[in-house]
Amino acid sequence: MVIKTKHFPLPGETVLGGKFMMNPGGKGANQAISAARLGGQVTFITKIGNDIFGRQALQQFLKEGVDADYVISDPDNPSGVALITVDEKGENTIVVAPGANGTLHPEDVAKAEVVFKEAAIVLMQLEIPIATVQFAANLAARYGKKVILNPAPAAPLPEELYRNVTLITPNRSEAEALSGVAIKDLTTAEQAAQKLRAKGVAHVVITLGTEGAFVYDGSMAKLIPATPVVAVDTTAAGDVFNGALAVALSENLALDKAVEFANQAAAISVTRMGAQASAPFRKELQGLTLK
Ligand code: ADP
Repeated sequence: MVIKTKHFPLPGETVLGGKFMMNPGGKGANQAISAARLGGQVTFITKIGNDIFGRQALQQFLKEGVDADYVISDPDNPSGVALITVDEKGENTIVVAPGANGTLHPEDVAKAEVVFKEAAIVLMQLEIPIATVQFAANLAARYGKKVILNPAPAAPLPEELYRNVTLITPNRSEAEALSGVAIKDLTTAEQAAQKLRAKGVAHVVITLGTEGAFVYDGSMAKLIPATPVVAVDTTAAGDVFNGALAVALSENLALDKAVEFANQAAAISVTRMGAQASAPFRKELQGLTLK
């Protein structure tokens, strides 16, 4: 929920703001919808509150063709929300209340075991408890499935988790936080990627905003340049990138080709306002030959 304001209220102050907007978001939901729009067959495991936001989210998933059989309603906690204020300079302040996202427990994921058996790719991010991420990565590993972890928002990861992740996709600041290497150029990007690989992840893709994405798999180390566009809103660029990457890899594209596809999808999304609303459809990427 976003309100534009001339200036941010000080503690104890009330200000009369400008326009109010409500945009469906959440990293997991954005990624699921992006993947579905790009032609992926998506099952989303998540928890929503038994409230208007949860009901709206569920309707949205169904409308987008996302399988919602494992969208669980939490009777005790509200849906996750973010309260955002944006001032005249475009600066923002954000308070996130994770709500039901924080109660997606390993037991909930265990009920969806059959989905892990059938899936090609398991894609996760860190807006759910880390114990749940670990459990899901373990389960996926047991079925020999590829796991993509988008380590956002940045958080320290348990060492064991790295070994069950096939591909990690930090942005620049997340890669710095996880590796301890400040990324200034391709040499330092490679050093950061090497550190992550040393922890047990096979493939590393570091997203670099307008520069594109750096791909490292131990032998291949290269920058896949971003698609040049006029950006109007980069919200959810990373989510669209991850959703697209999962779809491309599920279609057995090589990693560098999959990253090209993800760059294209994310570039389209930054030319449009909104989070889920900006995610492109597959037909918008047609004409792109990657194989
Ligand atoms: P996040 O949004 O998670 O911080 P990035 O800023 O690295 O992640 O953006 C993710 C991807 O989105 C980039 O790798 C790139 O493909 C695409 N992207 C982001 N900003 C732009 C831009 N201004 N122009 C073109 N592509 C962009």
